[in-house]
Amino acid sequence: MALEIGIVGLPNVGKSTLFNLLTNSAVLAANYPFATIEPNIGLVPVPDRRLGTLASLFNSDKLVPATVKFVDIAGLVAGASVGEGLGNQFLAHIRSTAVIVEVVRVFEDALITRVNDNTSPLNDISIINTELVLADLATISKRIPILEKETKANQKLLPNLELLYSVKAALDNDQLIYAGFSAAQIAVLSDLHLLTAKPIIYVFNVDGAILSDPSSQAKLAELVAPSMAIFIDAKIESELNGLDETDASELRESYGIYQSGLENLITAAYRTLGLQSFLTAGEKEVKAWTIPIGATAPNAAGVIHGDFERGFIAADIVDFKDLVELGSLSACRAAGKIRTEGKTYIMQPNDIVEFKFNV
Ligand code: GDP
Repeated sequence: MALEIGIVGLPNVGKSTLFNLLTNSAVLAANYPFATIEPNIGLVPVPDRRLGTLASLFNSDKLVPATVKFVDIAGLVAGASVGEGLGNQFLAHIRSTAVIVEVVRVFEDALITRVNDNTSPLNDISIINTELVLADLATISKRIPILEKETKANQKLLPNLELLYSVKAALDNDQLIYAGFSAAQIAVLSDLHLLTAKPIIYVFNVDGAILSDPSSQAKLAELVAPSMAIFIDAKIESELNGLDETDASELRESYGIYQSGLENLITAAYRTLGLQSFLTAGEKEVKAWTIPIGATAPNAAGVIHGDFERGFIAADIVDFKDLVELGSLSACRAAGKIRTEGKTYIMQPNDIVEFKFNV
């Protein structure tokens, strides 16, 4: 399963600043192992306050959060889809990602050059999205003649060919595929790795003033609805990042930032990928494991080890809130709060699990 998230945007909008924040954030990195695999690929821990709570309950040595992989590609410029600059190669880097994070500059700074003079965020969004659309048009225009030939030999392929025609018509109208086609149709197109078939999370890199102004945020969010919008002041967050937690939270308060934009972004990305986590807890470690929403108990066991899935017998499950309220597994057992679930059980977001299996 591809868990990668690609960061795109015009040059000088704050992509690298955001990427560095994601991979180096003192807030997120506290107690969490993380790694920058390559200069432009980072494994970022998914913030999960439950891990800390469980670690103190179980006196655990280690916290292991779930992670998502972010890929930072260099700035896109108009013309990238036809190979202007290095654009085309960079677009290739995000073909394998499951979600696109599009950074949009809203902050004003006379010292930092804008690539296009027009200062409207909508204009910047349309430049980027047009490049994504043009790249997809190039892909689909290559595929159509091939499928036309194949369809002549095999009429069963006709519905696929018709789908390609309607995708091309949508792209010709500058429409993104993700918004206009069903999940089933997008699944048929999956081998084309179309960029606009991926969900986009818009990150508006704003000034402090907008960060504390819900009505300006609502206007920006409207520009990209129904896609998700997140608001970050990358510059302030970078300043906060170098400070210890007490100083950082004082400063954060003085700026009126009560919720970390970074945390929102990672959580949004994780959900947009259709993922959730379940937890295991013990003295050795507490750990969040990533599973698709809708996974069954044996699927979840398989994420820990293939043998657990093959030999699955049952899962003992306690809800996080019950455990915190009652204080220990033995108290939960006494109160009948530990459930034994079988093969068809669908995992729920707050499940703390111990699997029983035959080896
Ligand atoms: P990229 O080209 O999109 O990767 O942009 P960078 O992250 O390299 O940022 C370009 C410049 O803008 C750098 O000098 C950053 O310090 C600055 N910058 C990034 N975010 C902000 C912000 O929110 N406010 C201001 N004033 N400057 C920012």
